[in-house]
Amino acid sequence: MSRVVIALDVGGTGMKCALVHPEGRVLHTERHLTRAERGPAAVTENILAVADGLAGRARSSGLEPAAVGLVVPGVVDEANGVAVWSSNVGFRDVPMRDLVAARLGLPAALGHDVRAGGMAEARLGAGRGEPHVLFIAIGTGIAAAHVVGGAAFAGAHGAAGEVGHVIVRPGGPPCACGGHGCLESIASASAIGRRYASLSGVAGSTAFDVATRAAAGEALARQVWIEAVDALADGLLTAQALYDAGMIVIGGGLAEAGEALLAPLRTALDTRKRFLRLPRVERAALGDTAGCLGAALLGLDALS
Ligand SMILES: [Zn+2]
Repeated sequence: MSRVVIALDVGGTGMKCALVHPEGRVLHTERHLTRAERGPAAVTENILAVADGLAGRARSSGLEPAAVGLVVPGVVDEANGVAVWSSNVGFRDVPMRDLVAARLGLPAALGHDVRAGGMAEARLGAGRGEPHVLFIAIGTGIAAAHVVGGAAFAGAHGAAGEVGHVIVRPGGPPCACGGHGCLESIASASAIGRRYASLSGVAGSTAFDVATRAAAGEALARQVWIEAVDALADGLLTAQALYDAGMIVIGGGLAEAGEALLAPLRTALDTRKRFLRLPRVERAALGDTAGCLGAALLGLDALS
């Protein structure tokens, strides 16, 4: 019987789930709602039920579930398998790995969504073949994963990679963290939409609208886009000074802008680099499946 890994990427609104062959082939995918509004205990039970359902699905397809990989947002203690804290899912010290292992009777691993996504991009996606990858996910917020030799570093407290809260514009816009002028308060997809909406008076503008209008030559949209790209270049140069990455992989929703983001970003990095050696800057290759594939890799690693 062919073995498979059960993979779950739990986000604030949805869960992306898959059955993945040990060689990385995705055999089956499912999406479910997280239902965070029902509270962390209900979310945890929902995760266990979905994982159990995937195990049943595997067995009924003649596959043998061998391990479970689960990734969640927030602060994650990967060594002890604990979801320590999450603002959008509400976890507070949930021993998720042991709960999953006990329910399914399988080895399990718990990881952080962005670190797992970065690991998948480094091993299977845009960073394939590059030993030093810095993965930056830009969406509602901005977070990074430093992946060396295929392993993402979590830091001493499971909180490495908070590049979104590097202050790039002291005294700048307020950030959800309580600071002002954090990178994500200027260059996240939501910040770009908000900034354009406040300057133009067009309520509900998104980063996609800004990118489209900037490409069409609208001056205000171009101004907001360039402000964001410049802030991103400043934040990434701080990261580069710390990590000396061989490649920066840009993922998350804003990466959908492709070269409209990457081309001016490369130029902005080049004009600011001083003595720093610049990495290649590329768009992520795995799209929104990176976290789920990363979860599968963690599950596989738990087997070996
Ligand atoms: Zn912040």
